[in-house]
This record gives sequence, C-alpha cells and structure tokens, in this order.
Amino acid sequence: MQEEATIEKEASAPFLVQIIKENDIQGLVLDLDNTFLMTNEYYWYWQDACSVYIVENFGLNIAQEDFVEKMSYNLHLEYDEKRLLPIQQKYQNALDRYFFENIPENYRSYRKVVKKFFEDFYKGSPEFIEGSDSVLKLMCELEIPFIFNSNAQYDWTRIKVENYEEELNGRKIPFNAVDIDKRKDAKTWSESAQMISVPIGKTLTIGDSLYADILPAIEAGCRNLVWIKGDLDKLPPEIRDDPSIHIWCVDSVKDLI
Ligand SMILES: [Mg+2]
Repeated sequence: MQEEATIEKEASAPFLVQIIKENDIQGLVLDLDNTFLMTNEYYWYWQDACSVYIVENFGLNIAQEDFVEKMSYNLHLEYDEKRLLPIQQKYQNALDRYFFENIPENYRSYRKVVKKFFEDFYKGSPEFIEGSDSVLKLMCELEIPFIFNSNAQYDWTRIKVENYEEELNGRKIPFNAVDIDKRKDAKTWSESAQMISVPIGKTLTIGDSLYADILPAIEAGCRNLVWIKGDLDKLPPEIRDDPSIHIWCVDSVKDLI
C-alpha cells in the first residue's frame, strides 16, 4: 500500500520535476521573452494602438483597419530583418515603408507622435504566460537556482524580472541582460550558468528561440533543454542525432508543471 502511494506520487510529479531528477539538473537558465512573458502580444498591442492613433490624428485617407493591417505587415518585415531596435525606431522604419516615396510634408509631426506614443512602452512589462510564475515557485521549493538570460535593455529586463520577484515575496532573481546591439550567444549562456554557480552541463535551458536559446546553449555545453513550441525537425542532424543532448518540446511552460 505504501509502495502504491509512492508510485502514484511519482507518476503525478510535474514534468519539470521528472526532467530535473532524471538528468541531475542543478540549475535553470531561462529565456524571458515569449518563454515566460507574453512579449509578442505586448508589442502588437502597442503597435496596433499607435497605428489607430496615427489614423485618427492625421486624418489619413485610409480605413483604420486597413492602415493597421498595412503597418502590421511592414512591422513584420522589420522584424524579419532580425535587427533588434528600440520600438520607436522599428515603428518609424515601418512608417517609412508605408509612405515610401510619398512622404507627407508634415512628416516631422508623425515622428514626434511616434516617439511620444511609445514613451511608456519600456516602463511596463508584458503579462506572465500562464504557469510561468508557478515554475519559479516550484524551483524555490526545490531549492534549484535559476537565472534569466534575456536580450533586451537592462532597465526593461529589470522591470520584467521585478514583477516575478513580487510573486516570489521579494526574493531576488538574478538576470543576465544582454544588450540589444549584441546577441544571446554561447558566451551569454555560459556566463548565466556561472552567475548561479552551476556547471553549464548541469543546467536546464528553457527557451523558445532556436537561434537565440537552443543552439547557443548547446554550443555552450548545455545538454538538457526545453524548447517552447519547438520542432525537432528544425534541428541540425548532428544535434538531433546526438544521444547526449536531450530536448523536450512543449507548447508552453504551463505544460512543465
Ligand atoms: Mg524568447
């Protein structure tokens, strides 16, 4: 009877706990945007709101929803270029694409409005992805150290992390803020592991980006990774076929608890 109860408990242990136990994980190195936070949604909320504001304020000769859609398309093109730029700059570039050779005479006013509109963008934080705070609480209970490795302005990263600290009753969470003119690479993943004093080979990486999270963490020496919305078919064959590397694909951090 005693044994049965133990088995049952084991079977219902959160997936994350199983991964930690079975692979002797001693620390977590975590991506923040779109892994823990609804960052894409935050961007689109602000960007679409700015487009609505511009149509209303400049009386553009286009239906509001059409302008929002065209700007959304242009912004996607800007994001596809993979350069990380401040939001005001991204939006301005997308607006340049929209007007192209028909730049209005009062274009300077547009620039001012864009700049002003996004003034508070970096003062707020995207919302938590459901379950993300529970993952951190669980790590606190298990006394597993963790750190965020994030590619955004230092101050903005700090604001985002502070929201989680509040959820953890003020417990300090370390973070490695990689400047936006740099990239998260193998070095930043190993630095982050060093910051929590765990050998990178004993860490679990959780991230959503193949190029910013999964591949550089592996290059740094991480062997256990959770890939949010991942697709193993997209991995280079030498990594997919390496039996020492374990990658679990889940839809959301929520699936880990
Ligand atoms: Mg991310």
